[in-house]
Amino acid sequence: MSKYQHIKQTAYDANMQLPKLGLVLFTFGNVSAADRALGAFAIKPSGVPYEELTPEKMVIVDFDGNTIEGDLRPSSDTKTHAVLYKNWEHINGIVHTHSTYATAWAQSQRDIPIFGTTHADHLTADIPCAPPMHDKMIEGDYEYQTGFQIMDTFKEQGLDYKEVEMVLVGNHAPFTWGKTAEKAVYNSAVLEAVAHMAYITEQINQSAPRLKDSLIKKHYERKHGPDSYYGQ
Ligand SMILES: [Zn+2]
Repeated sequence: MSKYQHIKQTAYDANMQLPKLGLVLFTFGNVSAADRALGAFAIKPSGVPYEELTPEKMVIVDFDGNTIEGDLRPSSDTKTHAVLYKNWEHINGIVHTHSTYATAWAQSQRDIPIFGTTHADHLTADIPCAPPMHDKMIEGDYEYQTGFQIMDTFKEQGLDYKEVEMVLVGNHAPFTWGKTAEKAVYNSAVLEAVAHMAYITEQINQSAPRLKDSLIKKHYERKHGPDSYYGQ
């Protein structure tokens, strides 16, 4: 048995969640799961329908984007995953989808404002939208550069990837991540729900205000702070 079997299984299970959660159509979207000790991650093969996936079909790739095990070509977004794993050492799972509402905000090139407590339960910042990439980046190593576009946006906005586990890539779609692949999938579903709510909020009230700082703090800290009291 492959020494990568556990991450193949994790990546498979996480990928299969995407259609169940309504986050993907056809073959759009991909999840990867990393093992830091092995310096590798397992990712969905490119263009294979979800119903034909098996754990064995997952492709093993190192943090430089080189395939090290697997018969199929890895997802076309593999280099974006590799760049993020290489530079953000606390993440072990990454998800990319074209889920409708999050993608609509990305296409509109807008950060998703923090309008309510659903958003604040998960992060205290607006969900950042990285600007569309320059032609030079697009014509070069596009998927690799997408990773840098994401990291540059976090640097410029002073965001911590351990606290804000999601981003919109302008004109493209979202990426989310987490300590595990399961958490990264959870974050994709949260992002889509928050994006949907924010869209409707602006339809009902074009000048809806951002959530007050006191409520942002309260909701985030009761779930994530040192004195958190959410859950059992
Ligand atoms: Zn995409």
